[in-house]
Amino acid sequence: MTVVIIGGGQAASQAATSLRQEGWTAPITILCEEDRPPYQRPPLSKKFLEGALEADRLLLKPEEFYTQNDIDLRLGVRAVSIDVDAKSVSLASGEKLGYDKLVIATGATPRKLPIPGADADGAFYLRSAADALALKPRLGEGKSIAIIGAGYVGLEVAATARKAGANVVIIESAPRVMSRVTGEFFSDYLQKYHVAKGAKLLLEAMVTRLEAEDGRLVACVFANGDKIKIDTAVIGIGVMPCTDLAEYAGIICDNGIAVDEYCRTNVDDIFAAGDCANHYNTHYDMNLRLESVHNAIEQGKTVAASICGKDKPYRQAPWFWSDQYDLKIQSVGISAGHDQYFVSGTPEEDSFSVLYFSDNRLIAADCVCRPADYMVVRKLLQDHALISIDDVKGADGDLKSLMARR
Ligand code: NAP
Repeated sequence: MTVVIIGGGQAASQAATSLRQEGWTAPITILCEEDRPPYQRPPLSKKFLEGALEADRLLLKPEEFYTQNDIDLRLGVRAVSIDVDAKSVSLASGEKLGYDKLVIATGATPRKLPIPGADADGAFYLRSAADALALKPRLGEGKSIAIIGAGYVGLEVAATARKAGANVVIIESAPRVMSRVTGEFFSDYLQKYHVAKGAKLLLEAMVTRLEAEDGRLVACVFANGDKIKIDTAVIGIGVMPCTDLAEYAGIICDNGIAVDEYCRTNVDDIFAAGDCANHYNTHYDMNLRLESVHNAIEQGKTVAASICGKDKPYRQAPWFWSDQYDLKIQSVGISAGHDQYFVSGTPEEDSFSVLYFSDNRLIAADCVCRPADYMVVRKLLQDHALISIDDVKGADGDLKSLMARR
């Protein structure tokens, strides 16, 4: 009984690790396209980009972990197709690998900016350690960087670049930053914070062309004809799930590989986990495709349990974090669709939490330098506690007192 895992990221590494922990003794092979063992991606826009973390500290497990646990980690190997009838995976080298159980953990890839010049020397996407290593020397004093897209990647890189002394202009097509994942109050707070740190912020701005001279980036041109001089552009406009292999194999995909709460696809013995998977979330009674470390880890565990016949459904309140300058941002739940919010704490001192409600029920929170608030809300959401906005107002800043209401 062989398990083959396609993908070499957090979900793949976790699935292999958890399989051994669950008692799986048969062969496990990880097919990893990159030539680095599975590593953490969050530091790529922060500590690793800054140079404050060495490459070997990025690794999720030391390389010998895989040999010690009899996991065949194959680096620099690309899977090109899956034959669901023959139960085999074909590799770019022409080799075919049979499997009894297959895990697809192919992750996501940066959404490409479809404008002229986006491939010039000096334009970067940030997804891999190699991307971060190439970008790092361009962040110092006197450099001029355009950040295209004010999401997680954009704002984290903007903070790292400003700290390194670069001139930074943040360009966002939406009317506010982080609009995909947060509410207006928090976007507004972040905008002011980044501007106060010296970044220039352009909202509702569309870059139509990156101008290059002799192949090297020199300017960023906008839809209204404006032009700014830059030497580097970092494009962070979202990611697309890597579903090609699954789609060609006839596995149902809809904004990701469709899986149930046990991470099973519609094809027997094929599972999916992490950024590429769109799961039915019993917690929210809806389908979700989450792009987070927490999701990759928990789905990796779920897959392993499912393969070992110890079904442990994935029922999690999602959480995320981001570090920008001195701000430790921790978010829990999904705030989209909220109809009310309440701010607890003191935004002017950069210590507060925004709690979101839908139909007068707590659904999510963004916490800035308030780890205790974050832990409380996470527990409340995980336990499906019914907390109203009046409950929160009544707590008078002491969110811990709400724990009694679970
Ligand atoms: P993201 O968080 O989805 O943000 C992309 C932003 O770019 C959105 O605000 C989007 O606006 C905007 N945008 C889209 N097209 C644009 C254009 N043509 N010009 C200017 N702005 C444009 O994605 P990301 O920042 O690229 O992050 C990529 C992935 O890495 C995500 O999975 C993210 O969760 C993950 N990541 C997470 C963390 C963390 O959790 N701390 C850190 C880094 C990366 P619209 O929404 O209006 O399209």
